[in-house]
Amino acid sequence: MSEPQHDIALIGLAVMGQNLVLNMANHGHSVAVYNRTASTTEEFIASLPGEGVDKVHEGTVDRVKGYNDLGELCASLKSPRKVMIMVKAGPAVDAVIEAIKPHLDKGDVIIDGGNSYFVDTNRRYDELTKEGYLFVGAGVSGGEEGALKGPSIMPGGSKEAWPLVKPIMQDIAAKVGPNHDVPCCEWVGPAGSGHYVKMVHNGIEYGDMQLICESYFLMKEALGLSNDELYDVFASWNKGVLASYLIEITRDIFSAKDPETGEAMVDLILDVAKQKGTGKWMAQHALDLGVPTTLITEAVYARCLAAQKDERERAEKVLKGPDQTKFDGDRDAFIDAVGDALYASKLVSYAQGYVQMQAAAAEFGWDLAYGDIALMWRGGCIIRSVFLDDIKAAFDKNPQLENLLLDDFFKDAIDKSQSAWREVVQNGVRLGIPMPGFTAALSYYDGYRRSRLPANLLQAQRDYFGAHTYQRLDKPREETFHSEWLDLR
Ligand code: NAP
Repeated sequence: MSEPQHDIALIGLAVMGQNLVLNMANHGHSVAVYNRTASTTEEFIASLPGEGVDKVHEGTVDRVKGYNDLGELCASLKSPRKVMIMVKAGPAVDAVIEAIKPHLDKGDVIIDGGNSYFVDTNRRYDELTKEGYLFVGAGVSGGEEGALKGPSIMPGGSKEAWPLVKPIMQDIAAKVGPNHDVPCCEWVGPAGSGHYVKMVHNGIEYGDMQLICESYFLMKEALGLSNDELYDVFASWNKGVLASYLIEITRDIFSAKDPETGEAMVDLILDVAKQKGTGKWMAQHALDLGVPTTLITEAVYARCLAAQKDERERAEKVLKGPDQTKFDGDRDAFIDAVGDALYASKLVSYAQGYVQMQAAAAEFGWDLAYGDIALMWRGGCIIRSVFLDDIKAAFDKNPQLENLLLDDFFKDAIDKSQSAWREVVQNGVRLGIPMPGFTAALSYYDGYRRSRLPANLLQAQRDYFGAHTYQRLDKPREETFHSEWLDLR
């Protein structure tokens, strides 16, 4: 057998795996590749010379070699070996890990770059660490284009693996900063923290998308804006504080025409939302942790409601809304107010996402670098936006910040947009337009900023029917009380 030669192996040659391999090889790393279905490996290798200069740089073809035997694949790697798995999340990852272990030595690195559930990653980390392997769970964001041209990569797991995988990961990651040299890839923390942060990224993506959709619906339903007018609104928003990838693609969607009919594409698309589950994972874990990630959870529910198209069609024939459905005030002022409401709600969404990461870090004993996490999301991924620099600055100022809303920048931004935010919510409610994201964000804000909430009454109710006890404002907090409520009347 020839001398070990490859820098890394990649297993799983579907769209993400193939593009990551090309990205690695384009950056000068030699990659051994394997796919369960061998014909895919052969087709991929055969396709390389014809991929063109955009995809394949000079020398890349020679740096990629296909294998149909896992033993040979692993034997071809420089030691300590690095094997990246890019297969369907779930049992397939365990199957691949079991299959490669006999061909690895202690101290070799296994990287799971798929969208794995962080609970699975915690388990795999514990098992593989006990057996002496290094394990990295890396969230990879940016879809197939990101995988090829530079994704955001969120690695966590065995810290000793970081110096071994860092050069390759940072080479292939998206770059940001004035000189385009700051990689969107930094070490996140132990065990499943990399996949946790990726899950939060996806949840925030759900929230951002929902808020943009609500803005669109308000302007379409209440003002009757045309797609050309919506294009202009989103184009102007993309030049200010809302500037982001999602605002930019939304702008472009309003100019897209269906080649078959010539109609606006957006108006032809069935309003039935689909989801793959990462938003749901985040919402479920928010409930487990007892943190109010209300906006992102509402964004998941909004997709569930949107999925019930047939039922909504039946309900529309039965249920009435308000008589007035069109806004009759100043149109331009209302459009600006919707932009402010979108921004304020987005601030709340990120604040909630960060609170959840902090709660998870406390639960699992992880030490997370919150500012660096914002930096990793500045390029390559779906939620990239100018606004992430402000999050980084907030945590640089105060690494112990308990809620982003308490940072001066966020506080001032909400102060400036809050009256417009309330006006939009009032009008949307008055006109019968659903805005679960806007309203959840505003209710969270109004609840969070009050030292007193009606939970005194709630505690009285719990004690009345279930003797669950209560604490008193006028007595030490550690003391609990129970009343015989019928005797107090
Ligand atoms: P995918 O459709 O999720 O998975 C297909 C790949 O998994 C194929 O290579 C398939 O091999 C392999 N596979 C499935 N079951 C297997 C098993 N039991 N043993 C061995 N291999 C198995 O591929 P993808 O879209 O490229 O995504 C890869 C990972 O990246 C997933 O975790 C995905 O969630 C994540 N991700 C995807 C995107 C995206 O935009 N697509 C973005 C970010 C992250 P065969 O060819 O033999 O079936």
